[in-house]
Amino acid sequence: MSDPYRLPRTVLPHRYDLTLAPNLDTATFAGSVDIAVVVAEPTTTVVMNAIELAVDEAWVTVNGIRHEAHVSLDEPTERCTLTLTEPLPAGDATVSLRFRGLLNDKLHGFYRSTFTDDDGNERVIATTQFEATDARRAFPCWDEPDIKAVFGISLWIDGDFRAVSNGAVAEVETIEGRRRVRFTDTMIMSTYLVAFIVGPLDATEPIDVDGIPLRVLCPPGRLPLTPFALEVAEYSLRYLANYFDLPYPGDSMDLVAIPDFAFGAMENLGCVTFRETLLLVDPDHATQGELQNIVDVIAHELAHMWFGDLVTMDWWNGIWLNEAFATFMELKVTDAFRVQWERWAGFGLARSTAFDTDALHTTRPIEYSVVSPEDAAGMFDVLTYEKGAAVVRMLEQYLGEDRFRAGIRRYMTLHQYGNTETTDLWDAIEETSGEPVRRIMDSWIFQGGHPVIDVSISDDGATVHLAQRRFTYLPHPLDTSLWCVPLIIRYATADAAVHTTRALLTGETLDLALDEPATWLVVNAEGHGFFRVSYAPALRQTLTAQAHAGLSNVERYGLVDDTWGSVLAGTTSAAEFLTLAEGLSDETDVAVWRRILTGVDQIERIARNGEREVLQARVRALVAPALDRSGWAPRESDGDRDHELRSVLIGAMATLGNDHEAQTRVREIFHQYLTDSQSVEANVAAAVIRVTAAFAGAEEVDAMLEGFRRSSTP
Ligand SMILES: [Zn+2]
Repeated sequence: MSDPYRLPRTVLPHRYDLTLAPNLDTATFAGSVDIAVVVAEPTTTVVMNAIELAVDEAWVTVNGIRHEAHVSLDEPTERCTLTLTEPLPAGDATVSLRFRGLLNDKLHGFYRSTFTDDDGNERVIATTQFEATDARRAFPCWDEPDIKAVFGISLWIDGDFRAVSNGAVAEVETIEGRRRVRFTDTMIMSTYLVAFIVGPLDATEPIDVDGIPLRVLCPPGRLPLTPFALEVAEYSLRYLANYFDLPYPGDSMDLVAIPDFAFGAMENLGCVTFRETLLLVDPDHATQGELQNIVDVIAHELAHMWFGDLVTMDWWNGIWLNEAFATFMELKVTDAFRVQWERWAGFGLARSTAFDTDALHTTRPIEYSVVSPEDAAGMFDVLTYEKGAAVVRMLEQYLGEDRFRAGIRRYMTLHQYGNTETTDLWDAIEETSGEPVRRIMDSWIFQGGHPVIDVSISDDGATVHLAQRRFTYLPHPLDTSLWCVPLIIRYATADAAVHTTRALLTGETLDLALDEPATWLVVNAEGHGFFRVSYAPALRQTLTAQAHAGLSNVERYGLVDDTWGSVLAGTTSAAEFLTLAEGLSDETDVAVWRRILTGVDQIERIARNGEREVLQARVRALVAPALDRSGWAPRESDGDRDHELRSVLIGAMATLGNDHEAQTRVREIFHQYLTDSQSVEANVAAAVIRVTAAFAGAEEVDAMLEGFRRSSTP
């Protein structure tokens, strides 16, 4: 009883029979719950969680006999304690409570989401958001992730409202003008995954995905914006069931667009809630970035149906793995869904944002100990999602995708319907791969920061010298952190053959003998490792000369990114960075361009008067040939990423390059866009709006605000 955040385990639930009757007009709800429990040892108290609920009545039934309970609610610990006059015997019992609550406006618990319909009327949807600990605001429960149970949910609804929840609709009864919708029982799962939604919602016809009915639900009038989400969800469900080698664990799948939603989306089993902009879209008039976000988020939430919902962290310290792994899976699914988007190349940009934070002295380990659930709130950041996904990807690439997946499958079958610690995953992969997975991963998970690998090569090219030290922007002389670094090295030999070799750098240094002498080499092949690489000058020169012939997009990205990192650390000059960028003016990959230009943008911010004009001229010289190649208007031959590249180049020419001709052209397109928005390709429109915003006068600002207010889609 000393830990105020963990309930006693004397009485534990295994099935909730929950009925809720929300009243959207009065913003209240009434509820009843009958919970089948097992009493481990005789006790006179039953302790569970509840907050902001009024409990009118509570009793415990044992062998058909009802025992009245005294109820006390304790606000600081968010607990509800039932006290009985006589001890409950060990064994089965049913705990029953009748309660009331308010539909709040706080975007958590059971809350009101409002929107304005096409007729200008304000409408209300009652919906839920329970992660991490807000199920207790909607019904009394054992609100901890490892106390899993089955949920049988019923909702009372009025008029033409629709009700959705985790299960499929099992039965609808009409009693005295109201309908009661009963849903099928869920699998055994955590309380934070329970969801119920009542209100005016439109639904698509269900699509049958290997026996699972899949729908999208949204506020009335928005069904035309749902087909893309349906296509993505259908693809993702099949991909994921195959990847995990386990069928989807629910019996229906509803994706629900909610007008007021605090997070991006929430992985409630079978009832995934989304912000409208992350689900509803007109793909003919959206940028590739917008579409990619939607695919990412849908795939991420659906990955959670297995990784998170079916196998769940024991306590909130494990939330990072839940999120990191779902992020890793989202990238895999998106990469497969649209190969031409080259999703892993784009992930470089996200990895860079993680590097930025992780290179500070104030960074943190990915996993840390969590006492109160609030402690875990600090985990929802770039170190959890982006660094976490990056280190998972690093492991996958080092082991090979098949060996890694075999470990994941082992983990899923071993722990399905259960709860795990982070190390359970590494142990499962270690078991199937025979590699020291736990040792490798512990060094990345339990210490903050990341290394830079110094690389040089012997004169005969036969031995690579590798050394690691912690990478920070400001010097950190006393830091002796070491990582267990999985390296994938690609090198070319005199006969122009290309070889790949793997090595594990566990100590400070490693001398690696190559099978044949190398003429050039890449130490972070395909850029999946979460570390910086610093090549000795001669090596870097040959590598830069090889940039287009020998390096992949992601590797060129890494070269630019690592160089920029060393500029921030003060070991490379900004001038050297610009020279490297100018050497890459033939670049055709949008991610590499973005990285070059964000570096130049940061240099521009510290440029003094006089320097700025020089820099702008160099930007124009750098960007103009690429923009000429790309052109201002879409072409038949454009791939999806070419549209995005054009957008990036237009933006850079007009703002960073301060090119007057480009600015004039942007202004013309902006006015064309105002007259007929559909006549401007979406990626060009995005660039034009960004540039106009940078230079706008009052007239343009008014036009933008008006466009925002009149917009016909989220
Ligand atoms: Zn997630």
